[in-house]
Amino acid sequence: MLGWKDDRPLSEVLPGKVAKALTKSFGYSTCGQLLLNHFPRDYIRQGKNFRAFAERQAPEGSFITVSGTVTHIAKRPIRNGFVLNVTVDDAYTAVFFNGVWQERVLYPGIRVLFSGKLKFFHNTAQLQHPEFLILDAPRGESAVSKRWGGTLKAIAQFVDVEELLRDREWLPVYPASSTLKTWTIMAAIHHVLKTLPPIEDPLDISDLTFDMALRQIHEPRPEGPQRAIDRLKYNEALGIGLVMALRRRDTRHWRAFALPPAPDGYRAEMLAKLPFELTGGQQRVLKDIDRDLSKAEPMSRLLQGEVGSGKTLVAVAAMLSAVDAGHQAALLAPTEVLAHQHARSISAMLPDDIRLTVLSGSMKVAEKRQALLDIVSGQADIVVGTHAIIQETVEFFSLGMVVVDEQHRFGVEQRDSLRMKAPEGTFPHVLVMTATPIPRTIAMTVFGDLEVSSLHELPGGRKPIQSSVVPEAKPTWVTRAFERIREEVAAGHQAYIVCPRIEGEGGVLELAEELQDGPLAGLRIMVLHGRMDDKDERMAAFARGDIDVLVSTTVIEVGVDVANATVMLIRESENFGVSQLHQLRGRVGRGGNASLCLFHTLAAPNSESFERIAKIAATSSGFELTELDMEYRREGDVLGTRQSGRQRTLQLLDLSEDLLIIERAYEDAYQLVDDNPELAFHLTVGIREEEQEYLDKS
Ligand code: ADP
Ligand code: MG
Repeated sequence: MLGWKDDRPLSEVLPGKVAKALTKSFGYSTCGQLLLNHFPRDYIRQGKNFRAFAERQAPEGSFITVSGTVTHIAKRPIRNGFVLNVTVDDAYTAVFFNGVWQERVLYPGIRVLFSGKLKFFHNTAQLQHPEFLILDAPRGESAVSKRWGGTLKAIAQFVDVEELLRDREWLPVYPASSTLKTWTIMAAIHHVLKTLPPIEDPLDISDLTFDMALRQIHEPRPEGPQRAIDRLKYNEALGIGLVMALRRRDTRHWRAFALPPAPDGYRAEMLAKLPFELTGGQQRVLKDIDRDLSKAEPMSRLLQGEVGSGKTLVAVAAMLSAVDAGHQAALLAPTEVLAHQHARSISAMLPDDIRLTVLSGSMKVAEKRQALLDIVSGQADIVVGTHAIIQETVEFFSLGMVVVDEQHRFGVEQRDSLRMKAPEGTFPHVLVMTATPIPRTIAMTVFGDLEVSSLHELPGGRKPIQSSVVPEAKPTWVTRAFERIREEVAAGHQAYIVCPRIEGEGGVLELAEELQDGPLAGLRIMVLHGRMDDKDERMAAFARGDIDVLVSTTVIEVGVDVANATVMLIRESENFGVSQLHQLRGRVGRGGNASLCLFHTLAAPNSESFERIAKIAATSSGFELTELDMEYRREGDVLGTRQSGRQRTLQLLDLSEDLLIIERAYEDAYQLVDDNPELAFHLTVGIREEEQEYLDKS
């Protein structure tokens, strides 16, 4: 971490068996990997912990480690022997079947650490056959001299168990595996730390040095682990901050074309022709963007806005500023369907003289050649396409600005690659748009110095979408859902039905057939999925109103805009993520009509999946749903970075909670890069190799 590593092979420091198990269970081979990747997932504070567990309501079956004083022991005969009930702190019992040696060792007054599976029996908490460790025995036995189970014997081979436990108010609880108990890991880490020479701190940031923090997070002092945790979190944040700051230092000299809004250009013409007023939010955001574009430095702005809040219009206005100034603009969509959809709706807004060119992977060779020619010759003013635009060897005549739609994971590296597309010595202005707002911390982490604008309100006349859950377990509800679709179609509207798969049970193909012959007989049904070549024509037919019901996969997830579609049925919603469901729902409610989204589910009522869907149905705000999303996913997933077997820099930092730490660390990072760029560079060598990769790919 930050230039420090401990490359000692585990096998040289620990007994071969333990080292091997650590490699097998967790993939670690060096001491540094163990120390930096295997932080305690919890701590037990001796004497005070069972109630804490009970309060936190550890669910039955969870593996817990608790300590306490034995208050009572009872022995009850059963058919094949006896049951030993050991009551601890009058709060819970440890149960041993035929616990002959346990009976000999345990007695009231002795303090013990138990580790085992939690069960509830007649409403009392039980640990059945837990492993245990004697912490303090009034009769003077030491933890080591008594008979112990296999785990302790193994530990005692390489650490002094007395010393390991002496004066330890806080005991770490480590992520364990079937072959490695938390105590073995505790002992291994203790030994690794004991044999680790003091770490020199290259930074003088706090009176708690890195060395102290690393030792104390594993072996907290009486005041607890929090300061050590915060210090190490800070280090993690500082690492990313330094990478960002170094990057910005590199880009500081990049220049962009200044694109101030022209009072009487195409942009003004487009805005004047609009059949509606801009919302307050759109005006505000456009002002932000105009301010950025007027400068000769590249804009880096994230536009967050609810589904249907009118981001496209803002993007078009910005792109026309580029055209007015004599340059080109490009809009990158995440899918081909969306690229074509955008091309259609944007063309409809553009003044006649503006040339819009579509560039997509599925174009015929001749079409593509023509498109590329238009782009390089400057015939094309606005280019709309998928990421092919930046990935392939597309050359622009003079690219001034780029809009990236619905892709908040558009990482720094991808942004950097845009430079290749702009004329020598310049960088295009970049606007990233998303309807799935990301917490500021993540925005900072993924984008570094990106500025953020938000659109909260929906354009006038838009009615909120009604949502309901349709459980498969209630056949009458399912029937009613199809009736609702028929009613909407009868009223002249259209419907989406989204399936989680193409083929097989509940897939697009099968369902469409079933519906055509059953509940939706007589309606014009069409299927759409990613493997089709004519997705675009199909989508266009639906947009024209030639089709009543579109049965599709999530190809319609983002951005598709058919105002006449008023009802959406999502089949087996439990297969989709929170933001995905929100995105899908956003495909209806786009005209002035009341709209409906039906979340069908196979999940059992009361299950976590069901609850999640019910919550989404009850919430219409993307901003609230982002929080819900965070509850269900760990930050690694949010960043899209959770991967196994690879060292991750973000071990401790919680992007949803540690805003203050992140802000402080980023400030310090920018300062350090100004003051001592060589040191900053040196500190981040490791991270740049590891993290860069994921920040860019995520
Ligand atoms: P999103 O933010 O989800 O990308 P869009 O840009 O697709 O939303 O806009 C959704 C719909 O709202 C479009 O049909 C668009 O024409 C319409 N719209 C945009 N701005 C306004 C406005 N100020 N007043 C009325 N309708 C608007
Ligand atoms: Mg959109």
